Amino acid sequence: MRRSSSTGRSAVPEQLGFPGMPQRLFVCTPSKLGTYTDCPRRYRYAYVDRPTPPKGPPWAHNSLGASVHTALKNWFDLPADRRRPGVLPTLLKATWVREGYRDVEQERAAWRAALAWLDGYLAGLDPAFEPVGVERVVAARTAVLALSGRADRIDARVGPDGRRELVIVDYKTGRGGADPDDARGSQALALYAFAAEKVFHAPCHRVELHHLPTGVVAAHEHTDESLARQVRRAEETAADIMAAEAAVTEGADPDTAFPTTPGRLCSWCDFRAICPAGSSAEPKPPWSAVESTLRPDPSSRPTPAPD
Ligand code: SF4
Repeated sequence: MRRSSSTGRSAVPEQLGFPGMPQRLFVCTPSKLGTYTDCPRRYRYAYVDRPTPPKGPPWAHNSLGASVHTALKNWFDLPADRRRPGVLPTLLKATWVREGYRDVEQERAAWRAALAWLDGYLAGLDPAFEPVGVERVVAARTAVLALSGRADRIDARVGPDGRRELVIVDYKTGRGGADPDDARGSQALALYAFAAEKVFHAPCHRVELHHLPTGVVAAHEHTDESLARQVRRAEETAADIMAAEAAVTEGADPDTAFPTTPGRLCSWCDFRAICPAGSSAEPKPPWSAVESTLRPDPSSRPTPAPD
């Protein structure tokens, strides 16, 4: 489905318009692009079909992740002299999302785990440490994309050459853990780094996954080339999406233009119940991933949910 523009610089489908008319940019977030890469049909359900088809019930692992992320944001909103472990229960209570848990007992266990993760993680940080941005929206344009996204945290550090460099930090709360390959392969992190560099006019090559349950930090140092490669891939994905949308506008069957890609993610898909391919996937209860995160025996780990 990929077609190149006449300049060969980007994979943009040809569009009707007047000579000299500016190219319509594809407005997107890394999450939107990732949804299409995972499954074009899921993208259609989430971003094209209106009204949006009914989703399944809320997932407990999303509630847990959102609670911890917001508590961390609120930690950095406090003045440095109030950032003490004693405030964590209050912060977490204020941000706690209750949806999706099996029962009150599981929710309480998740709350205790989340508090312990925050306690352990923040014990390793100087309370006076001020990131450049927390839950910070960064945005950038390319010849094809109008890209924006919210980075969990952007830090500034002194690089090996003595220059100030930015670092993209992404918190993980799932059982899946994090390793350098995850950091290297994450298109979202690379796009945040690309956009942060434009917004702050400072180099940004390092991306880090901070896995709260274990305290593991998985890092990758991008090069200008590897960031450019990820941007090119994002442009190609955008071109595919625009081509599929144009095909539907011109009368193509939407089911053909946005095919299903059945696989592991189907069990965790919000649209499994209405998708023809989803019916063959094993249904997961909304609390399933949290149950596995809280399970003490790592050898019985099931396939992790998307983090
Ligand atoms: S159930 Fe599977 S195939 Fe269907 S939309 Fe979701 S991810 Fe795609």
